[in-house]
Amino acid sequence: MAEVNISGAQKAYGALNVLHGVDIEIRDGEFVVLVGPSGCGKSTLLRMVAGLESITGGTISIGGKVVNNLPPKDRDIAMVFQSYALYPHKTVAENMVFALRLQKQPADVIKQRLQSAAETLDLVPYLDRYPRQLSGGQRQRVAMGRAIVRSPQVFLFDEPLSNLDAKLRVQMRKEIKELHQRLKTTTIYVTHDQVEAMTMADKIVVMQSGKVEQIGTPLELYDRPSNTFVATFIGSPS
Ligand code: ADP
Ligand code: MG
Repeated sequence: MAEVNISGAQKAYGALNVLHGVDIEIRDGEFVVLVGPSGCGKSTLLRMVAGLESITGGTISIGGKVVNNLPPKDRDIAMVFQSYALYPHKTVAENMVFALRLQKQPADVIKQRLQSAAETLDLVPYLDRYPRQLSGGQRQRVAMGRAIVRSPQVFLFDEPLSNLDAKLRVQMRKEIKELHQRLKTTTIYVTHDQVEAMTMADKIVVMQSGKVEQIGTPLELYDRPSNTFVATFIGSPS
């Protein structure tokens, strides 16, 4: 596990400034949700933590180590994508261990990590199936399994539930939280859905137009929003 520190983070795409100096301190084991309207810079910030986007200014550190110039493979993170990012022609097991094979992990390590992740996610009976033979919830669990087998220090989620129906979304929120309670891995979870943020977060970061508007627990944001934007955003129905 590890803490993540984002300090004065800036991002420009050419002449377009999309992050204007973002400061966020995330403690070891914390579940932090970045929330804000579409286009405010959430994915850009998450991708900078992952190393998938360069950093225009400021610093990002993971576990006390500045990672600004580290390639993604050298950062101890795993990103969870939406379930449709599964490989359709690979089985559940093959999907889950793909990254470990790329890392050339020994066969016994791969087998043990697969078994442990499959048990954690209730996927043991489905390891030989293909993604199309699974329900939406099972597919989303496989998408999480691909991250878990790597035992990273930090999980990054970018709107993982946005293509699921409302009922399944509620169930998966619960499963992701239970998983976090079990593994206690530091997590940054991006959503544009304030209900998702309020129900899942230890700490919420409300963003607007490339800036942080407020950081606090769900209760703090609800009781003491620091401005009209936060009050309106948190208070509006999803
Ligand atoms: P969010 O995830 O909050 O919806 P993004 O981080 O995807 O927001 O985008 C923030 C801003 O950066 C938007 O204005 C978007 O159009 C712009 N943007 C994102 N990626 C790129 C890119 N690769 N090139 C140019 N502009 C981009
Ligand atoms: Mg996004």
